Amino acid sequence: MQVFKFGGASVKNAEAVKNVAHILGLHGDEKILVVVSAMGKTTNELEKIVEGYINQSDDLKTLVDSLKKYHSDIVNQLFNEPNPSLNEALEKIFGYLEKRLTIPPSDNFDLNYDQIVPVGELLSTKIIASYLNLNSNLCQWVDARKLILTDSRFRKANIDWELTEMAIQGLDWEQNILVTQGFIGGTKGNFMTTLGREGSDFTAAIFANALNAKSVTIWKDVPGVLNADPKYFNNTEKLEEISYKEAIELAYYGASVIHPKTIKPLQNKKIPLHVKSFLNPEELGTVISENFEKDGLIPCYIFKTNQVLVSFSTKDFAFISEKHISQIFDTLYGLGLEVNTMQNSAINFSINTSFEKNKLEALMKVLENQYAIKYNDGLDLLTIRHYNDEIIKVLTKGRKILLEQRSRNTVRLLMR
Ligand code: ASP
Repeated sequence: MQVFKFGGASVKNAEAVKNVAHILGLHGDEKILVVVSAMGKTTNELEKIVEGYINQSDDLKTLVDSLKKYHSDIVNQLFNEPNPSLNEALEKIFGYLEKRLTIPPSDNFDLNYDQIVPVGELLSTKIIASYLNLNSNLCQWVDARKLILTDSRFRKANIDWELTEMAIQGLDWEQNILVTQGFIGGTKGNFMTTLGREGSDFTAAIFANALNAKSVTIWKDVPGVLNADPKYFNNTEKLEEISYKEAIELAYYGASVIHPKTIKPLQNKKIPLHVKSFLNPEELGTVISENFEKDGLIPCYIFKTNQVLVSFSTKDFAFISEKHISQIFDTLYGLGLEVNTMQNSAINFSINTSFEKNKLEALMKVLENQYAIKYNDGLDLLTIRHYNDEIIKVLTKGRKILLEQRSRNTVRLLMR
């Protein structure tokens, strides 16, 4: 059996959903578990709804209505005849959302988020499963909240591997195609959880690991893993084949093509990962496997925008010790702030993380009694794998570099 993952762009409108059916049709009677994201930019829209809910904004109804319209337009274009069971399912999901928005928000932002944002995946999978069933790709809708079992670390939930594996292996395959939601999970107490933005890739890898799948394919709007994000760089090149190790490094540094947690569950069972274009499904994309022969042939550039450099200095001129660093890291972990780069000197310790205003303010509040804390925001972090001096010169021209780190294969430059 194989696992396929379709991201938001691959299901963003009726035509795209038809293309998913076409791709599945190319695979005959094979057993396929299909992991689907929310349609188009739905997750971003739901994030706005969460903000509106917490601030009790007047736009809340408009935002929900526009989400309804977006989905019902797709449904109307997909189905020539009314589909009462689908309509009922969608009404139930929107009914849940509207009811949730009338409950006073909890103080825990992440808990609120996780009870609202998964609605996107629930909607998309209901629509897609209905469409496939009407078009002879018989399939079964399965609820990821009952299969991907997690703790209650909302927005960055940790998988309970034992329970998850048991639940997935106990699945009853009534059809060759199972359709489920990416990105979302559930706790023992029936709360919904999420695995981090773009987490559907990770979901696909979890299913593949538990089911010992032959392979995973992530269907994208690019031809495979590119050596840079076309949003920031011209003349990108496709990497035909890379090793798990190279892929996990690229994803970790921020290459947005794969969620960083995707690789481990696949590497552990030696399951190859294909990244292919949903626009040209017959074309070879990128294969990620144990084979490392082609690693490093092409330099890779990874750009992270909206970065901040935070520096902590001891107030009494004491050296920064491991004890200080462990306290700072404890606070960062508690707040869910991820460190991208770090550096220490005698009385100063600096970390670079993505800018999240609320979390940064909370960090300062916890630690400002002990440290003088300063930060520089609006920075970009450029990582180059397999660099050379010429490339660095070109890419840093006119920029002010605040922090630079080099190893044999990788250079990281935090710059304004
Ligand atoms: N829908 C979620 C997001 O946009 C998860 C995913 O697509 O992987 O982040």
